[in-house]
Amino acid sequence: MFDRETSSIPCNLCQSTDVDVIARKDREGKPLQTVMCRHCGLIWTDPRPAPKEIVHFYSKSYRREYKNIVRPKKKHVYRDGLETIKRHRFFQTVAREGDTLMDIGAGNGVFVYCMRQLGFDAKGVEPDEDFARYAREALGIPVITGFASDIKKTEHYDLVTLHHVLEHMTDSLAELRHLWRLLKQNGHLIIEVPNAEDILQAPGNRYHKAHIYTFNPETLSALLTRAGFSVVTMRVAPYNGNISAIFQKKDEVWDNNTLNQNGNYAKMVRFFKRHTPIRHYTSPIPYTKLFRNLSAALREWIAIREFHEDKAMLNAVVSKYLDTRAR
Ligand SMILES: [Zn+2]
Repeated sequence: MFDRETSSIPCNLCQSTDVDVIARKDREGKPLQTVMCRHCGLIWTDPRPAPKEIVHFYSKSYRREYKNIVRPKKKHVYRDGLETIKRHRFFQTVAREGDTLMDIGAGNGVFVYCMRQLGFDAKGVEPDEDFARYAREALGIPVITGFASDIKKTEHYDLVTLHHVLEHMTDSLAELRHLWRLLKQNGHLIIEVPNAEDILQAPGNRYHKAHIYTFNPETLSALLTRAGFSVVTMRVAPYNGNISAIFQKKDEVWDNNTLNQNGNYAKMVRFFKRHTPIRHYTSPIPYTKLFRNLSAALREWIAIREFHEDKAMLNAVVSKYLDTRAR
């Protein structure tokens, strides 16, 4: 089905260089080679941009090129507020009011702002200068400009959150080990990433250069196990196809022998055989997705009309959530 090659970058999970080339173009049709490890099924971009290029990309041009924005639009702030509520619902069983929280790749800071409104001692780190400034100045919250590696090793948190960040990290294992050190004993790491087995996404829309790795539930849990975490909960959200997971820091240092990926590569190959463009576009999925997006856009337009200030809008989102919980 795919061309077999030797990758220039060894697999971050199992060190193998035996790969299949699964795509040669990104979702905009530009050249981008994506490979899958024939041993464990991990997917990555090969060749990879140089480290300097990556730092520049995230600090200067990522949001502009990728999302075409400099300052968050009102509707994006609102959407991120609603997303924060969904995320809190997901991890609330392991989070208590007053917990210290560090959000890596905080973006516009809406998540940190809402978590603070919910009683958490939340902070963030964000490489994009404009977004970090917006978080500090417009939302008035502690978000530093930088990467996870800029957080002092002496700081320790109850919760660390990585929402759509892990797939952008060049050496995900090394980064996760850094986060392991930042967590308190038995602290929790909350991760959300796109799913390599997402059937809501058209096959041609899967890959782009900002995503260095693409995980499925098996490769994600294997990576976290190697980094010294145990899986508490993992789910694939039916509304957006993403993987959401809660991991707990284990007492002992990471164990390299726990990796067992038997069958995951074969599972991924079966997925790619099944999920073809023809099958995707002749299924109801893209049309129900379009309908859902349109009705959400309408509801959003109605909901945000009355607000002139971002903080007031987010406070209303949080109050509504607290009201429904109190009932
Ligand atoms: Zn591998």
